[in-house]
Amino acid sequence: MRAEFPDFRLGAVLATSFTGTLSERHGEAVERIPTPRRLVDWLAIYGLDVDTCTPDQLDLARELRESIHAAATAAALQDPLPACAVRTLNDRSGQGRATAMLTPEGKHRWQLGPASALEDALGVIAADAIAIVAGERDGRLALCASPTCRAAFFDTSRSRTRRWCDMNTCGNRQKKARFHANQNRSAKAAE
Ligand SMILES: [Zn+2]
Repeated sequence: MRAEFPDFRLGAVLATSFTGTLSERHGEAVERIPTPRRLVDWLAIYGLDVDTCTPDQLDLARELRESIHAAATAAALQDPLPACAVRTLNDRSGQGRATAMLTPEGKHRWQLGPASALEDALGVIAADAIAIVAGERDGRLALCASPTCRAAFFDTSRSRTRRWCDMNTCGNRQKKARFHANQNRSAKAAE
């Protein structure tokens, strides 16, 4: 029997989509990469094809994920960056050996090294996080308005007023909660 795993939440930004593989950090957390295989599946979606992942490498990935979350949260709040998160980001970035390649069709593609592909993939994610936290990219780091989520996300909307990490989940839930609250209020008023 095939085990059922939680769906991925896929965003447009690599680093913050990666932190989204753990959601509801302030509620009942959902681990979306519970096994090495699920990490391999997630990486493939973002064009980072690796053949294998060991449990130790999954731990390394999760350590990077939480470091990105910590650094991005601090940056969103304009707090000092946590030193250990910065160290982890730099270590992962420094150990990756991915090469940016241009396909004949003019597309960007990552070529990972043959020996330690998983570490190379993590290096790409770490570099993406560094660019965002350093404010190099056009957008704004913000925290999800859902109190059980508080995920750091990268707002690239023109108005820079996005409130939720994900419109289909956190945003929708919030909207539904508001709708029910309004209904209860009008029901009470009618009594
Ligand atoms: Zn959220």
